[in-house]
Amino acid sequence: MSTPPDLPHPIFRLAVEQSALAISITDAKANILYANPAFERVTGYSQAEVVGNNESLLSYKVTPKLVYETLWAQLKRQRAWNGLLVNRRRDGSRYLADLTITPVLDGDGHTSHYLGMHRDVTEVHRLERQVQNQKAMIESVVDAAQVAICLLDERDHVVLDNQEYKKLIGEIGREPASTLLTRLRDQMGAEFDTARSRRLGIRNREVKIEPPGQPARWFACAISWFEEQDASADAFYEPVRRHYLLLTAQDISEIKRQQEAIRINSLSALLAEQERIQSLRETLAGAIYQLEGPLNTLTAAVRLLERRREGNSGGNGEEATDAAMEEALRDSRAALDSLRACIPNQATEAIQPLNLNEVLRDVLKMGTPALLAAGVVVEWHPAPQLPTVPGGATQLAALFRQLLANAIEAMNERRSADHAHERVVRLTTLPRPDHVEVILEDSGPGIPAEWRYKVFEPFFTTKGADRQHLGMGLSMAQDTVARHGGLIDIDPDFRAGCRVRVQLPVTTSGEPT
Ligand code: FAD
Repeated sequence: MSTPPDLPHPIFRLAVEQSALAISITDAKANILYANPAFERVTGYSQAEVVGNNESLLSYKVTPKLVYETLWAQLKRQRAWNGLLVNRRRDGSRYLADLTITPVLDGDGHTSHYLGMHRDVTEVHRLERQVQNQKAMIESVVDAAQVAICLLDERDHVVLDNQEYKKLIGEIGREPASTLLTRLRDQMGAEFDTARSRRLGIRNREVKIEPPGQPARWFACAISWFEEQDASADAFYEPVRRHYLLLTAQDISEIKRQQEAIRINSLSALLAEQERIQSLRETLAGAIYQLEGPLNTLTAAVRLLERRREGNSGGNGEEATDAAMEEALRDSRAALDSLRACIPNQATEAIQPLNLNEVLRDVLKMGTPALLAAGVVVEWHPAPQLPTVPGGATQLAALFRQLLANAIEAMNERRSADHAHERVVRLTTLPRPDHVEVILEDSGPGIPAEWRYKVFEPFFTTKGADRQHLGMGLSMAQDTVARHGGLIDIDPDFRAGCRVRVQLPVTTSGEPT
């Protein structure tokens, strides 16, 4: 390579002299012939001290031999070498040298000299190592966290995740972040989109996932945003920011299951108490009903006697009888009034928008022991989307619990007669234009068509007088449905057992939500 004609040779020397890089020129055996002032500054050796010495003067013996062998192999091929060496200064301190050695060829193409240029990169290396250490530390902390963590780029691709998140992939079977974000969006609606577009944090939202064939899982989710500067050269002077979504999901399924068990137990206890009160109401109503008959007869007899006495003037004995009868009548009425007063009040309950799928799920959970004991198979077909109905949660749970108990009992009846018969309860919910329909079918003996309406009358029972049935179950069920403005009926065309259909009006915009 020739020098440009308009650039005088001394300029080259001056340029080397004044370079900020430590420059040295050696012979072919690496003996130093020249070192510039920057070399003096970096190494601590003056030019006079290094000239005549080998470059190995700078070698700190921790650099592996293989590095030097590679360096020399490259130089022997007359190729430039670049790499990092640990050097020792004159004062014994060490620094990391980013060194480039270039062979200088003579006119015959032989290496006559070497040009060495290096700079101290100890600080850069320290910072790089620090970043790496911090990254490794953050990764190990994130990995050790008992919370699933993942970082998503602007296209929702996972760019970083931890062990808990990887575990979730195995358990849930697909990309958990997208499932969790979809659920969050379904739950929060427009609020989610606003939070996303404005990059607002979302904290502690509970999300339920029902993986196919597995029990439901609950996660407490949080979203925060992380901004990164683009590290490419293009963005050096014009910074480009990338946004990342940090999703954390803590598995709270166990806590939820415990809470759910407590809730179901409390609901069960509440229903049991209500049923106890109801049965007391039934018993007292039954007793009153039974007593009202003879009392009416007695009243009629007293009125008859009164009319007769008005016709013929009766003697002393008759008056005494009348008085005794009147007294018996008064006492009987007083006894009936006391009985009526003993009837416990029905508990009042707040009306709220209810999802019947949830009510029925609770009823099925509460009924599980009875269903298992009776060997009944439950076919549960909830509508995927169901409008809410305004209702009393406990009353409606009691209603469906009663209908389910009737179905189990009916199938138990049939079981004693027909051992091979399959016992199935099919529970379906259907959204209709202005109401929700619940259909409960059982494979029991069914209800004869002529009893289709009679079964809803108080004290009508198909079980016979010797049993402990007052025949109030369906009558009370009808009361509950009527209080909710709905309809209950028995399908006369269903031959495979009994099909009860309950229709409840849906919540309208004016009702509380
Ligand atoms: P050495 O015994 O000198 O060499 C170790 C191995 O290197 C040997 O086994 C041999 O395979 C190979 N080797 C050494 N010299 C030669 C040679 N002349 N020809 C072929 N192979 C050879 N080293 C530093 O540690 N720091 C520096 O800043 C540095 N700057 C250099 C600048 C230039 C321009 C050149 C040419 C070399 C530079 N070196 C530098 C390399 C230095 O010359 C030594 O090779 C190195 O320091 C190892 O020295 P040593 O005494 O540990 O081992």
